[in-house]
Amino acid sequence: MITTLVHPRQLEPLTWQQELADAITGTAELAAALDLDPAALAHAGAGKQTFPLRVPRSFVARMRRGDANDPLLRQVLPVAAELIDSREYVDDPVGELAALRAPGLLHKYRGRALLITTPTCAVHCRYCFRREFPYAEQIGDAPRWSEALAAIAADESLEEIILSGGDPLSLSNARLESLTGALAAIPHVRRIRVHTRQPVVLPSRVDEGLVRWLRAIALPVVLVLHINHPNELDADLAAACARLRATGITLLNQSVLLAGINDDVEVLSQLSHRLFEAAVLPYYLHALDPVRGASHFAVPDDRAQLLAGQLAARLPGYLVPRLVREVAGAPAKVVLGATF
Ligand SMILES: *Cc1c(COP(=O)(O)O)cnc(C)c1O
Ligand code: SF4
Repeated sequence: MITTLVHPRQLEPLTWQQELADAITGTAELAAALDLDPAALAHAGAGKQTFPLRVPRSFVARMRRGDANDPLLRQVLPVAAELIDSREYVDDPVGELAALRAPGLLHKYRGRALLITTPTCAVHCRYCFRREFPYAEQIGDAPRWSEALAAIAADESLEEIILSGGDPLSLSNARLESLTGALAAIPHVRRIRVHTRQPVVLPSRVDEGLVRWLRAIALPVVLVLHINHPNELDADLAAACARLRATGITLLNQSVLLAGINDDVEVLSQLSHRLFEAAVLPYYLHALDPVRGASHFAVPDDRAQLLAGQLAARLPGYLVPRLVREVAGAPAKVVLGATF
């Protein structure tokens, strides 16, 4: 009898669900994938265990081999510095629990409400401002949106609904379709916005079904990607952006300003150039939200403003992201501005 050693299906590219299931969750495995001495990552694993290491292999493939300080690696590697407790770094740094209008529905700003659609992300970013968000308590493991949808329908001031999470694109295309179908049926909802990092860490997520979903939404769609460093924007991600653009949606990007990762005018201007080449415009450069465990990523405001000035001095205005901070209780994101 002949044994087939390679099943033909294994030669096909993995689906995004298979890639997700195959994500790296152990530091030894990560060190091996990056040709790093496991001792170089020995400080890893010391980070908060309730927010474990998780990173898809396609993102790891964009990290430099043998470099424990790689800017992509540092975004995902748990380190002992996360355990430093500081009074200003808290569980709910931007006052989200006070802004909840229904399970998962945050209403802070006029005309816009944000729906936490799922607790799940393909990647665990160490600086995540929702790393301590009580998802289980607020929305449960398999969120239902009926109460949030009823609250949106009851408030005619809401013209834009922002799908957030977790990462909304970790939901299946079918669930996304049913959600946006329900939103589009509410007469005063005029725009849908999606905030996601999933196409960045998993470009295969932009599959035919996702493209079909976006094309079928009866309202204008704005999709805000979350890319922090130019090395994240490789050919696969650029191709995913092209597929997204072809659906006719507006593509924007937001970044978080992170010490030792992108707090450098050269890195930020390269990022803006690459975004433009992928038909994505920079939107926000966020000052770090002071969430517990992320203090080692903070960039002081005066340095951030100087960087914003240097960036403005070398790029056209449309390639300069607005430097902002989220301030609990403020009527909009607060612009920090640039100094020259
Ligand atoms: C950031 C945010 C928004 C969107 O603000 P924009 O300035 O329109 O990008 C909306 N709702 C909440 C709760 C937010 O945190
Ligand atoms: S993808 Fe976004 S929500 Fe998820 S861990 Fe990263 S920053 Fe947080």
